[in-house]
Amino acid sequence: LNTARMEANVVVLGTDSVGKSALTVRFLTRRFIGEYGDIESIFSHSITVDGREQTLNIWDSPFSQVITHETGCWHVSQQDLSPESTTYEKRLQWADGFVLVYSICDRASFNTIGKLLQSIKATKDYAGLQNVPIVIVGNKRDLHHRRTVLSEEGRLLALSADCQFYEVSAAENYHSVLMVFHGLVNRVRESRSAG
Ligand code: GDP
Ligand code: MG
Repeated sequence: LNTARMEANVVVLGTDSVGKSALTVRFLTRRFIGEYGDIESIFSHSITVDGREQTLNIWDSPFSQVITHETGCWHVSQQDLSPESTTYEKRLQWADGFVLVYSICDRASFNTIGKLLQSIKATKDYAGLQNVPIVIVGNKRDLHHRRTVLSEEGRLLALSADCQFYEVSAAENYHSVLMVFHGLVNRVRESRSAG
């Protein structure tokens, strides 16, 4: 039944400079470039997981505008409304799965993950999808000497939200980045065969 080519929409979210673009580009090209700018992009990429071909559409978005205030309002700010741009909520609706990224050297970026989880669960519960595929990623593992978020904190947060968890380095380790996206694809596939 499920051997056909599958498509999955993935949104990469997190505060500014945590390495969302670095992770995405590393996954797509196997390379770490260093600087990425603020371009909002959707990439399509075919991979084979467990012998099945899957197309991933990955939405890498500069996100700082969305999360700037604490009022419980989750919309993209006015400046960000290019013709192709949609509201944050539409972005959540579009996605089949999420990669939530923080930096292990940036406590504020870790705190934001909790807010993102809330908003995703709220939107997807509303759409009738309780068990949303989400991977939480602690990036910049190579900067361990500047670490301010313990591995254990990330692991516990993921456990409490029923998400997968990885610590990775987009800069130094391709394999760990691959694990993130393959893990998410498997979760999406499981959630489909369960639903
Ligand atoms: P974004 O704003 O979340 O898309 O973040 P970027 O991907 O643009 O990365 C922000 C900065 O962090 C850039 O200077 C990257 O080179 C750097 N960076 C990203 N990932 C890593 C990593 O794993 N290790 C280190 N040391 N730097 C990283
Ligand atoms: Mg970026």
